[in-house]
Order: sequence, then C-alpha cells, then structure tokens
Amino acid sequence: MPDNDQRIRYATKGADGKFKPPFPVSPVELTELTRKMVCREENGTHLRKYTSFYGVGVYGGIATAYSVGCNFRCVFCWVDWSRDWPERYGSFYTPGQVYQRLREVMSGCGYRRARISGAEPTLCPEHLCSVLDLVHREREAFDLFVIETNGVVISQERGFAERLEKYASRDRTRGTVGHVRLSIRGGQPEAFEEKTGCTQDSMELPFIAARRLWDAQVSFHVAVVVDERFTSPDEEERIYERLADIDQSIASSVEREILDPYPHALVRLRAVRREDITGNKISRKEEAVLRKKPPA
Ligand code: SF4
Repeated sequence: MPDNDQRIRYATKGADGKFKPPFPVSPVELTELTRKMVCREENGTHLRKYTSFYGVGVYGGIATAYSVGCNFRCVFCWVDWSRDWPERYGSFYTPGQVYQRLREVMSGCGYRRARISGAEPTLCPEHLCSVLDLVHREREAFDLFVIETNGVVISQERGFAERLEKYASRDRTRGTVGHVRLSIRGGQPEAFEEKTGCTQDSMELPFIAARRLWDAQVSFHVAVVVDERFTSPDEEERIYERLADIDQSIASSVEREILDPYPHALVRLRAVRREDITGNKISRKEEAVLRKKPPA
C-alpha cells in the first residue's frame, strides 16, 4: 500500500457535516492494511511494533506495553500519532522482548499486573499468543494480564476466542491470569459510524466477538463509552439489550467509560467538527501535538 493511504489516517469531515472520503472505512480492510506495517515474521518468530513500556496507576498499578496500530478510527481516540502513522512510529519487538520489558517494569514498580494497550493488541494474533504463552508459563508472577480489544479480529478469525481461553479462562480451576477487556463502541449503526469512522455494517463485529468470547468461556468484560456527548441513553440501552441477549451477566458488569479530552482526541474531534467539545479556539495542548503531527 502507498505510505500515504488516507484510510490509515484520522477521519475528517467537510462543511456539509459528512465524512470526507475515504471515510467511513472498513475495519476489516484497515486490519489488513495496518498489519502490513505493524506485524512481521522473521525466521518463525512473530514481531509487533511498540513505542514504549511503562507503569501506570490504572487497574491498581499495571505494566503497559504500548502497541502500534488500530483498525478503528474513533474520533475521540486519545492514542498518539502512532495510530494514524503506524509506518513512522515504533520498533519491532519479539514476544520474548515484550515479555522481558513488561517484567522489568513490574519489578521496578512492584506490580503484579500487565497489559498490552495503546492501540489494538489483537492485530497480530500469533505475536499476542506468543506473549501470552510466556505469561502463562510464569503465571505465578502475575495476578492479572489484561488483553484490550475492540473485537474486530476476534469476530473475523474463527478459533481465536478459543485460543484466548487457554490464557484467560472463566473456569478458575484452569489457573489462568488473562482477562479480556472488550470495547463496544456503538449500538446504533449511524452513531457507531459517527464515533468510529467505520462503516455502519461493522457495528455487528464487536457483538460477534462478545458472543464468541462468551461461548469459548473466556474471562472478559465489556467497556462502553457512556459519555452522552457520544452515546445517547437510547443507544446505551440498546447496547445493554444486545449484551443481555448473550448473557445478562455481561450487561450487568459493563465498565462505563467517560472520555477525557486528551490532546490527540481534541485534534481528531476538531477534524470532525465537534467544536461543541473542542471549543472554537485551538488550545495550547492541541497546538503542541499538531506541531508533532507528521505531514499528511
Ligand atoms: S479508541 Fe481504541 S479502538 Fe478506537 S481508534 Fe483508538 S485505539 Fe482504536
């Protein structure tokens, strides 16, 4: 793909309030495009791009591997420019190197928890499962390993949910430490498109993922953006109904997300004309990230 394929950049809207082409995009196509830039195989080892490894206070303190590349284009996304210019950011790491870096952060911070975050961790399934193999092998060092996802890859690749169950099982007797946090971005097609920059028909994919994770006995919960600037009470209710159709316990345990106006989120929101959130004037923190934005 050409390096300037606009499907990989952030979504923008014209004066008519509609997405400018090529948006909305297919998350399945974005998966394929992004994989070419962030997943690599060398001599049978599956590498993935990351930008950093650090400790952070969420989940009671957790070591975090910041991966590169996502297959949604959420307009409120807080991830840095590595999401939109994956070809420019990050370095390739083997599963062993990722595991080692996470363990170093855990030791330095006194944590027993780790996660892969920053973008869409499931984009390179073989790499992810190799990291999870290492975690599972030394699971006595962990009390939790979080696998964050928007569910697109799980919905597309048969058997992936079953693979995850080996590392993140609802059956406590299996002794796994993994847990999946599945983000569901929309419950009404138009609203889903507005939020994710992705085609309305792809709204179903995270629900398919929820069904597969449930059927495969994976330990998971769903996170929903309930911020009324993005999700109406009607839409929120629809999401809960859809989840309850799978199992009431999934709907009952939803993590309710309220969004913070991080600088990259403000730039992306301004690009889709959400001045109701950004305000009319470009803030200093937006200016700072705009200065670092690669050329289109
Ligand atoms: S908010 Fe999450 S799912 Fe949406 S584009 Fe950003 S990293 Fe991807």
